[in-house]
Amino acid sequence: MSEIVDRWVERLKGKLPPVGEMTHWERMAAAFDLRATDLVPVAPELDYWQITYAGYSHQEIYNDVDKTTDACLKTWADLRADAIWMYVDISHQIENFIPAEKRAQHFVHRGDQDYLLFKPLAKTLDEAIALYETRAFEQHIADSRAVTHYTPHMLQLLEFQEKMDRVVPVIVGIGTPSNYAETLVEVQQFVRWTVTEPKSKVQHYLDLALAERMGALDFYAEFAARNGCQFCCLFGGARTWGPKQLAEFGEADRIFAEKAARIFPYTFWHICGHNLPEAMQALTEWKGLKAVQYDMPYYSQRLSYPEWFEHVARLFAGKRCAMNAPTTQLACHGTAEEVRTMVRDFIEATLPHTTAVVMPGCEIDSYSPLENVQAMIDAAREKRPSARA
Ligand SMILES: [Zn+2]
Repeated sequence: MSEIVDRWVERLKGKLPPVGEMTHWERMAAAFDLRATDLVPVAPELDYWQITYAGYSHQEIYNDVDKTTDACLKTWADLRADAIWMYVDISHQIENFIPAEKRAQHFVHRGDQDYLLFKPLAKTLDEAIALYETRAFEQHIADSRAVTHYTPHMLQLLEFQEKMDRVVPVIVGIGTPSNYAETLVEVQQFVRWTVTEPKSKVQHYLDLALAERMGALDFYAEFAARNGCQFCCLFGGARTWGPKQLAEFGEADRIFAEKAARIFPYTFWHICGHNLPEAMQALTEWKGLKAVQYDMPYYSQRLSYPEWFEHVARLFAGKRCAMNAPTTQLACHGTAEEVRTMVRDFIEATLPHTTAVVMPGCEIDSYSPLENVQAMIDAAREKRPSARA
């Protein structure tokens, strides 16, 4: 079907030296199912980093599906992480809410290695609600990058996954209702409204976001799951929500997560930034999630990283696989030795309680040195007396 995929399959199939005793797929699946693994899986969210690593600029891949896929496959072939993350940027997510002639005002390309910036689509809660009530997202979808770039790229990677006989899983990333509710207007703005606006109005907005996202999951069932996708990352919003906000407004995400988990056997939740223990707790209660890609402790908690890792691992015991380390900041600005130390700390604090996947809490910055990404993978591959829960 796709020439670029066939070229990589021809180059790699049956020719790769094994890594450990399990395949990458088996290793990831076992960790998600809370079973023992031969090595601790490592699957950093390489996202935009792999574009840079493969020698492409952002401008170059922005409308070029083959180059985007080529970058992901080259990176995997060289580094052999335990999963392939598809490339996703913010325009995939929200371009379909914007008429074609207005898109240029909302998306900003900076340097070759920089991630795409965007400007919010609504200034007031009424405007945000109107985006959904007028069904803007349906009117502008046909020529949006969700259709012209994201979907064909996803299908190419899934074609690779299947033609390689599932030695390595492709992770498809999907935005959640809270993520959309926040992204359309900017996170701080939405969080402010959860306090200042009438509760019923905020709820109405989240209900609209949920309805659109539930429809999106039907698309993913047909185009991702039917083409072999089993590993799915749900990009959660609600990163700075406190217990009261979670209790009042967390329902949309819970309903969404449960539907996603019925479609994809290996569904995990991505919650980046400073996390509250209450958020970690909520993520152990929603049905179907198998793993959580979490991040740093909330500012008010004076915990060292090993303490935080252990706290979360105890909370996840028997329920969730824990995914973390190093922080995205350390991966970019730290030394390789610091990266190795943090990965080891995470593994040592987690494995007594549950399974672990080495995966920073958010995407790897495009400027992160190769040495640090390599150190992360090498540290996970070190021989340990037991890589089991
Ligand atoms: Zn993130």
